[in-house]
Amino acid sequence: MKKSECKRCGICCVKGGPVLHGEDRPLIKKSIIRPEQLVVIRKGEPAYNPASDRVEPAPCEMLKIQGKPGSWECLFYDAAQKSCTIHNTRPLECRLLQCQDTTAVLAVTGKDCLNRLDIITSDDKIAAYIQAFEHYSWEKINSLLTTLSSESIKEAEKILCTDLIIREQAVTQLQLTLAQELFYFGRPMFQSWNHPGVHLFIENGMPRLHRS
Ligand code: SF4
Repeated sequence: MKKSECKRCGICCVKGGPVLHGEDRPLIKKSIIRPEQLVVIRKGEPAYNPASDRVEPAPCEMLKIQGKPGSWECLFYDAAQKSCTIHNTRPLECRLLQCQDTTAVLAVTGKDCLNRLDIITSDDKIAAYIQAFEHYSWEKINSLLTTLSSESIKEAEKILCTDLIIREQAVTQLQLTLAQELFYFGRPMFQSWNHPGVHLFIENGMPRLHRS
């Protein structure tokens, strides 16, 4: 076996599914990967960056294959067989990734990433919800928290609460499943909270922030 050949240890698939790029668009078109099998990582959301090996604000919106319930393990990974159930049509990042040399996959990280509006048509009724939702963005929170004043922390807290309220309305009115919610809105913002200077806690079902 060549040093660069995949040994099928499955570690990369267990750690999480790939982010999709422009080259992966046909996989969606052919329904090899369906929207409800993806989770959106919104621009500015704290996310693991393999290039820096740190959690950092996402540089752009990204679509990632969802994990299995309660884990990050890629939905398409067959743990018993240690194999990918869509191996012949696996996405770009999976084809590029080699455990011993991550140069090729790092070269595409954060580039030409697919986003929700590449998949949803503008006349889809969910598009209006997404646009309203983006008014309460991670970018706004990140900008507010460049200063840790009481006002900016209060405003950031309002965004976290509005995130929950709008998604709940959409889930009820459009009868979305959890998988669809993850594609259209991503994880609730409070679940991705990762700010060293601002502590988050839940009170009466709503996220609250205070300076650490
Ligand atoms: S799509 Fe296949 S190769 Fe890629 S992470 Fe998932 S199981 Fe692994």
